[in-house]
Amino acid sequence: MESLSPLAMKTDLSKGRDYPEKDHPFRNSYQRDRDRIVHATAFRRLAHKTQVLVTHTSDHHRTRLTHTLEVAQISRTVARQLHLNEDLTEAIALSHDLGHPPFGHAGEYALRDCMVNHGGFEHNRHALRIVEELEYPYANYPGLNLTWEVREAMALHSKVPDCPEVKKYLKYKQPFLEAQVADTCDSLAYNAHDIDDAISLGIIEFSDLEGSKIWKMAFAKAQEVLPKEATATQTQLGAIRILIDMHVYDLVENTRKNISLAKSTNLEEVRNMETSVVCHSPEIEELKHELGAVLKQKIYNNFRVQRMANKGARFVKRLFSEFSENSLQLPERYTARIKAQGLHRTVCDYIAGMTDRFAQDEYMKIFNPYFDV
Ligand code: MG
Repeated sequence: MESLSPLAMKTDLSKGRDYPEKDHPFRNSYQRDRDRIVHATAFRRLAHKTQVLVTHTSDHHRTRLTHTLEVAQISRTVARQLHLNEDLTEAIALSHDLGHPPFGHAGEYALRDCMVNHGGFEHNRHALRIVEELEYPYANYPGLNLTWEVREAMALHSKVPDCPEVKKYLKYKQPFLEAQVADTCDSLAYNAHDIDDAISLGIIEFSDLEGSKIWKMAFAKAQEVLPKEATATQTQLGAIRILIDMHVYDLVENTRKNISLAKSTNLEEVRNMETSVVCHSPEIEELKHELGAVLKQKIYNNFRVQRMANKGARFVKRLFSEFSENSLQLPERYTARIKAQGLHRTVCDYIAGMTDRFAQDEYMKIFNPYFDV
């Protein structure tokens, strides 16, 4: 194996786990973190949670699970090219969306509104709560007992740095470079796959992306390199591949440039810089931003996407108020936790853990008079 960059997080230097454990003979700490994440209930539930389109829309579009896998594979490639810690990068990427409630960001904002006077809700913060408290595979301690570094990546991603469970992780201005990689690959992955899904499901057509220069470049390149017999779908997929490649090349090259400009081999120093070293060049960043704005207008604000998002938000809010008004409707495992966690946090945990499908079933059971409970 090639040697790691001086700016990579070295597995041997991990701050370790809250509950100390013996080393494993075959797997290092970050590989064990990765495996714990993959074996977690919250990870499996990602299969039935909305990325952009509600999971029952079709069998072919991305769910939060397949999105996560795409982020992980792109992140690993980038980490390897930059000689960063691939195992840590993979664990961070696989865990990055664990805290998402059902119905994507619409569900998240609905829960945030419900919890506004009860401590708030945000998905990164909830991911921390899942891995520190809510998962229960071990008899001796709560949570997954992940290493500090994977938990820190979640905390530094949080939009609510002031809350106590996040605050304890905030020593540096920037996350580990491995976390910076996973974060950048998250947005480049969803830009690319959201286009693919939206075209495939007839939400947009190629012409709707006219406002994005980088898409037009990728599309023109696909037409240039593909044989004349290529179908529209093959051209679409070719353009998506080229779009991802353009971003990844730029990310690797520009990060190498930033690292050499930083003239530091000291990880602490680089983490205390004002900006991330892992980032796109200003040109690609601008094009990525422009693409994001086009996607917002044409995909995320599309009436079909909006209707389902709003419907999902409505389910979340109505379930929240119903369970809060009469908590005896919660399963016993949850009512038992109200005393220690408080009523609203317990209801929030229950709803945040739901898949789209489970939330829809619960909604029918609770509100449809002809449904058995
Ligand atoms: Mg994501």
